[in-house]
Amino acid sequence: MRKKIVAGNWKMNMLKDEAKKLFSEILSMSMESSDHKITVVFPPSIYLADFVRQNNGKVMLGAQNFHFSNKGAYTGELSAGQIKSIGCDFVLVGHSERRTLFMEDDQVLLLKIKSALESDLQVIYCCGESLEEREQGIYINKIRNQISLLKTFSTEEMMAISIAYEPIWAIGTGKTASPQQAAEMHDLIRAEVSVLFGAETSENTSILYGGSCSPTNAHELFKCNNIDGGLIGGASLEANSFHAIISACQ
Ligand code: PEP
Repeated sequence: MRKKIVAGNWKMNMLKDEAKKLFSEILSMSMESSDHKITVVFPPSIYLADFVRQNNGKVMLGAQNFHFSNKGAYTGELSAGQIKSIGCDFVLVGHSERRTLFMEDDQVLLLKIKSALESDLQVIYCCGESLEEREQGIYINKIRNQISLLKTFSTEEMMAISIAYEPIWAIGTGKTASPQQAAEMHDLIRAEVSVLFGAETSENTSILYGGSCSPTNAHELFKCNNIDGGLIGGASLEANSFHAIISACQ
């Protein structure tokens, strides 16, 4: 059975004391993670080691970014193996901000996913179309192409990969996809995963929605058949709203 996942992507927000406070609040409010429903926090990586120590098992921790090489002369970078070695379980790959602001192309994303899987990390692979692509009617193909990147992985590897559908026009804009718009894309993604990996793997793949998800709209979005949780940016920076979104995910 596929997992429900609510993940908070803090991006480059929060100084140390605010970060500690928010993490403590999240820990005190969250339910224990189970086989069926998990909460993941992606803080700035500089806080990960502290949070791993502070964690009471209610959430899982992940890194927003890492380099695809195992080790070596890559000043300023950190590897998937290092992230795993301090006790993290997740990484984000393919977030639109990494694709556009840091020019991460398909080749880089593939290497990152490969490196994460080799280090026994779970991957949340993000895909999503721009407003222009939606308006031009090419958004279906865009998502198909982004999903087809996963075809080099085995069905076994796919068990460690979840997908986040994040329309770029909805990220940080307050313009959420309607449940109908999101459902259309989540249905498409599940169908594509089924073509690539078979129906069973597809049924077991968690597909999260991301893009201005909030306590107000989470419930309606999470009611859709193929929406298995959310990747939450802005609303994960406040414990009450993050908790409300976690609670909406049943
Ligand atoms: C994100 O960046 O992944 C995201 C979904 O952000 P927000 O919730 O702020 O739109």
